[in-house]
Amino acid sequence: MQLAKSIEEIRADFPILSTMAHGKPLVYLDNGATTQKPLQVINVMEELYRTTNANVHRGVHYLSDRVSERYEAARETARAFINARSREEIIFTAGTTASINAVAFSFGERYVREGDEILISGMEHHANIVPWQMLCERKRAKLKIIPFSDEGVLDIEAYRTLLTERTRIVAVTHVSNVLGTVNPVKEIVAEAHRHGIPVLVDGAQGIQHGLVDVTDLDCDFYVFSGHKVYGPNGIGVLYGKADMLNELPPYQGGGDMVANVTFEKTTYNVLPFKFEAGTTNFTGAIGLAAALDYLSALGREAVAQREQSLLALATAGLSAIDGIRIYGTAPHKVSVISFLPGTIHQLDAGMILDKMGIAVRTGTHCAQPLMERYGITGNIRASIAFYNTEDEVEALVKGIRRVTEMFV
Ligand code: PMP
Repeated sequence: MQLAKSIEEIRADFPILSTMAHGKPLVYLDNGATTQKPLQVINVMEELYRTTNANVHRGVHYLSDRVSERYEAARETARAFINARSREEIIFTAGTTASINAVAFSFGERYVREGDEILISGMEHHANIVPWQMLCERKRAKLKIIPFSDEGVLDIEAYRTLLTERTRIVAVTHVSNVLGTVNPVKEIVAEAHRHGIPVLVDGAQGIQHGLVDVTDLDCDFYVFSGHKVYGPNGIGVLYGKADMLNELPPYQGGGDMVANVTFEKTTYNVLPFKFEAGTTNFTGAIGLAAALDYLSALGREAVAQREQSLLALATAGLSAIDGIRIYGTAPHKVSVISFLPGTIHQLDAGMILDKMGIAVRTGTHCAQPLMERYGITGNIRASIAFYNTEDEVEALVKGIRRVTEMFV
């Protein structure tokens, strides 16, 4: 599978990649935290502000109509990208965190009672832990955790036994932001559905690495952020099955989400507007659609393949360094590699790499319970995107070698 552009052409699309950091060419390997934006996204947002700025769904005038059309076209792009059945199932939010909080609140209000159970996994990002904990506190419900192995593979047998008649919802990550594990979400959904339990999939680290097909996964909710999929920040998607979304109460009130307002009673708008109170981030939504179009044009399978080959290179190079420990060795993983070089503190290593121009993430990666599971206070995470090069991966491996030599 061939990318539609050469690596030189791709890198030219991302001007920030030619930054010099501390006098060295930037090696950006923090794509799990946020991805860089191609000119195709930057330009469309600039063009929008220059030519088509007005409030969406608010006016009968020319500009408002034009921007509303483009906003709804962006919704269609997002729908097609994840293969949702209809546009009304695509809610634009501020991002993954906002989407999970929306579901935890709205679903919780409708369905969760004292003594009920919410099931998440032990490898969740704080964004898929804390909103459910808050719900459990509000409703006196219980949070239950699916364990995982040292390799970073979810224990599906344990999962089966954790599903009870009190389980109201399962919320799992598609891909672990620390371990890179791709979880068997289709199987997880099928098992939950056998018990009539809905499933939310946190797609923050899944959407950018390959093909997400929500119809095939059959999940009830799928959430992701624009900024992790080469789009702008402050925008994200909450996909929900229409039947489910129709049953849920809105979680925010305001303009656009209403059908009729009187001081006595308000009726709500239809999907998706019922969940989009106030002026939405329409510029962001249109920018996100440009990012999704960019990936589609490049070839999504080819993007995934390139990332796999860079991951293999990084894994081989880092594994060959004495004393290195790699966290997350699941057979099915994306281009994320977390590690600790011997007993060297992750922050020291991260700061030395930074001086070499290499950007990695250090710390807990917003997954403190996962770090506790391994008995560590944090690690180093290199997260690789299709625009990274073999030379950049080599630079990381050489950099870590240097770090380990410095601390001998
Ligand atoms: N879930 C996962 C798995 C993530 O990696 C992240 C971002 N690090 C989030 C949720 C939260 O995403 P955001 O900060 O864009 O809302």
